[in-house]
Amino acid sequence: FVSTVCNFMSHEKCLKNVKIPCSCIAPSLVRVPVAHCFGPPGHYKKKFCTVCRKSLDSPAFRCEVCELHVHTDCILFACSDCRQCHQDGHLDHDTYHHHWREGNLSSSARCEFCKKTCGSSEVLSGMRCEWCGILAHAACYVIVPPECTFGRLRNMILPPNCVQLFSRNFSKLHCFRISENLQTESDEDDDVDGSTQGSTKDIQISTDSSKQTLKIFDGNDAVKRNQFRLISVPRIAKNEEVVEAALRAYYINDDQQEYELQTFTQQVLLSDDVINRNDAAEDSNLGSVFRESVPEAWIIRAKPKDEEVIRIYPAWLKVGMAYVSLRVNKDSTVQTVIKEVLPLLGRQKECLQNFKLVEVLMGSKQVQRMVLDNQELILNRLKDIRKTSIRQMNQTRFYIVENSKTIVQVNLFVGGLPPQLSPEEYTNILKEELAIKTNVVSVSHVYQAQGAVVLQISCFSEAERIYMLVKDTVVNDKPLNAVVIPGASKIPQNCCPLLVFVNPKSGGLKGRDLLYSFRKLLNPHQVFELTNGGPLPG
Ligand SMILES: [Zn+2]
Ligand SMILES: [Zn+2]
Ligand SMILES: [Zn+2]
Ligand SMILES: [Zn+2]
Ligand SMILES: [Zn+2]
Repeated sequence: FVSTVCNFMSHEKCLKNVKIPCSCIAPSLVRVPVAHCFGPPGHYKKKFCTVCRKSLDSPAFRCEVCELHVHTDCILFACSDCRQCHQDGHLDHDTYHHHWREGNLSSSARCEFCKKTCGSSEVLSGMRCEWCGILAHAACYVIVPPECTFGRLRNMILPPNCVQLFSRNFSKLHCFRISENLQTESDEDDDVDGSTQGSTKDIQISTDSSKQTLKIFDGNDAVKRNQFRLISVPRIAKNEEVVEAALRAYYINDDQQEYELQTFTQQVLLSDDVINRNDAAEDSNLGSVFRESVPEAWIIRAKPKDEEVIRIYPAWLKVGMAYVSLRVNKDSTVQTVIKEVLPLLGRQKECLQNFKLVEVLMGSKQVQRMVLDNQELILNRLKDIRKTSIRQMNQTRFYIVENSKTIVQVNLFVGGLPPQLSPEEYTNILKEELAIKTNVVSVSHVYQAQGAVVLQISCFSEAERIYMLVKDTVVNDKPLNAVVIPGASKIPQNCCPLLVFVNPKSGGLKGRDLLYSFRKLLNPHQVFELTNGGPLPG
């Protein structure tokens, strides 16, 4: 059996057992949203894209800490299902589950359970846990108990719950001390940006005159970026079939009746009024879409709803994907949602003011969290997200979160200062160059010989400000550098994490590959690159 939509391959008889989340429902299955850590695009031969399942023949992105590989124009559809390598103060879990990633196994890989071959170099097949490395068929992995014990390297792996890092807006690359200007293995100078152009390579423009090709935009965001996907439909296709095909191009699994296509016009973005008028005008047109003068470009729009069911995830539950469903109508505000959800979660006795509703966008490159205003109308919010992008709606979750006064503490290492100064002199330099606010920043360690200090910062925005500023600051002709130091705690007794130091300049430039392998084998927080945030000389 070979699926044309997904490039998915399986034995006919195994098919009924296969439970692979395809890209349309993957976002709903993520336990803890964790963004991936993409470097610049490179050439990865014999690897397959997690989103569209096709081989990577052009420059593509890979995650530096997990096995995710994606095409440049598939990256938006990957969801934030990377390994959780540290506690981030949000939605943390204390048990470990296998972290399954599909495909890109060696062709000699054998399934742990049925002992038959499960790897392939022809298609994306087989599953592998990114912590313990066990291998299984897509049909076999569902029967594996979910808990992961980290496999043979368990005594060498730094357990994720022993590392605390409030990464918030620091880049993922930075948190794992991965240099951002990696040399790519690219030898051609392709345009790999992918942001200015739609994808044309997946779908051949049909020369068959019974078919036509349409440009489909996903909401206002796509129009602004001029990112579209092409679909090819029979000229006699019904309107519903076109909507269906458009949704499929964006990996959206919803009922096509909830969507419609709007003619692409330049005024689309001008104002809501214009959009409403266009909608009205378009309705009368829909019947005749496929007569002469067919507009080539269309935008997917969600039809307005008077009520719908939303899922609310309780952030304090450690069991993963548990949520409650709630029907909301046009009068529902964030406040009423919180009020109705608490009894469903057995917390009706508690004060509403102790809770907030957080919108989480689970993008592949970044997980964004936004606290919603209590008076905000929830249906309006949903409408706005869908207007921006239907895909974004598919990747958005609402969490109910307890307000807590967690103590913010960011440890920031600042190097490149002149050596052999007194703590007061360092503080004065930092005050002068970085205008540090001494009420929230203090110098906790001084490394005189190396000209470096560690700052303890009790305010996120101040930490982010200093971090950004340090990169552009020069003291005595030497540029400063900054590293966020994760906190470590309570490492179990039977565990002695291996620390790996790699000098990327030695060993015939194999350094990058070596770093990549170690990061995937262990916890990336254990792996240090000597030229970038590694230990100080001496
Ligand atoms: Zn699908
Ligand atoms: Zn792809
Ligand atoms: Zn990843
Ligand atoms: Zn595992
Ligand atoms: Zn098997």
